Amino acid sequence: MAFAHDTESALLAAVALANSAEPPDTLETVASLEEFFEEHRYSGSHARTREELDEVRALRPRLRELLTADRDEAVAHVNAMLFEAGALPRLVRHDGWDWHLHAVEPDRPLATRIAVETAMAMIDVIRPDEMSRLGICAADGCAGVVVDLSRNRSRRFCSTTCGNREAVAAYRARQTRT
Ligand SMILES: [Zn+2]
Ligand SMILES: [Zn+2]
Repeated sequence: MAFAHDTESALLAAVALANSAEPPDTLETVASLEEFFEEHRYSGSHARTREELDEVRALRPRLRELLTADRDEAVAHVNAMLFEAGALPRLVRHDGWDWHLHAVEPDRPLATRIAVETAMAMIDVIRPDEMSRLGICAADGCAGVVVDLSRNRSRRFCSTTCGNREAVAAYRARQTRT
């Protein structure tokens, strides 16, 4: 494992959320936010309203900026996000999750909690200078964010769809050459 479990799950969720804004947008309904919430096993308040959806959607460009920033820019984003939310770190244990960090109360809006959780996770990426774990998808024409949590740092694509598409393209290129 590259990082602590809560850091890894927060990074994966933030990347998925940022990438949902790539065309075609996959976070357009309250139901799709519900799916995201379930898939990434969020706890705490969840309004299931259009307003909450709009707040989470509005957070996406900022997450993308943070996840694709260089190290010093990332620090500025993290500090601003923690300050804006009035973050106050504490260790908590709940719902089967062992000790991990929370920095805002569980009744704060979902978008605020995601922002703070991502900022807290990025602290763990910035301090040991592991920014190279984050990058842009290597597939042609894809701008998806990639987080590489693998031991051998082999991940290049944002999704299996992109990985497969590139494999097919590479195969075709080899076929036409011979
Ligand atoms: Zn928690
Ligand atoms: Zn991709």
